Amino acid sequence: MSSCFLFTTRRRLRWEGAYAVSEIKKLLPLQELDCQLRTMRRELEDIPARKEEEQSRLQEHKANLAEAEAAMKLEQAKIKELDLEVQSCKDQIAKYRQQQMVLKSNKEFKAMESEIANVQVKIRGHEDQELVLMEDVENARVNVTERCKELAAEEEAVNLDVAELDKRVAGIEVEITTMEAKRGEVVAEVPEEVLSRYERIFSRRDRALVPVEGGICGGCHMKLPPSVSQNILKQENMVSCDHCGRLLYIA
Ligand SMILES: [Zn+2]
Repeated sequence: MSSCFLFTTRRRLRWEGAYAVSEIKKLLPLQELDCQLRTMRRELEDIPARKEEEQSRLQEHKANLAEAEAAMKLEQAKIKELDLEVQSCKDQIAKYRQQQMVLKSNKEFKAMESEIANVQVKIRGHEDQELVLMEDVENARVNVTERCKELAAEEEAVNLDVAELDKRVAGIEVEITTMEAKRGEVVAEVPEEVLSRYERIFSRRDRALVPVEGGICGGCHMKLPPSVSQNILKQENMVSCDHCGRLLYIA
């Protein structure tokens, strides 16, 4: 008997049925693996978004810090402005003093003195305002420091969570490699036609194989005609649900 003859005989046997139920049972461990692989791949796919979500937790803290810094700069700018005002008042006084030296009458001199006194009052007003502002700057600085600390603490927490997710990715990748090797072994036992039919259904559904329980499809939960269970028990062909297309087996 040639090997070619053997091959065609086996091939024909596959199509003549009888193998169908046992092949379906062989598919069950495959389906178990594929479901786990699908779950792990989905988790893997979700991880970049989860990492981004972690990073976005920092956005609020960064915004709070930026706001605190801007508030502090605003107060500092107000002080600088007052400094310039004070300087310009002092320049004004110096100018008045120069002019005073060439004044002829006592009346004019006194009038100038009063002008100088007015400017000095203005300077004191500015300086009082500056004192208040300096306290505001100090409060703003404390606020900035607190926001900085909050951001640093959150960064630390985020980094830990991201590292945990990276670890999870590495773990899943190892698990997937192991399971794919196991899948290769299981698949080798399944005839090609059966496998392709199974894979076609599995790619569209949560499961390709579902049990029939009490005459109900375990996939779509529709009532099946009694002939379906009889056909499965006859073990001749792979039987699928008319409603959802999943392959059926008797649990
Ligand atoms: Zn169904």
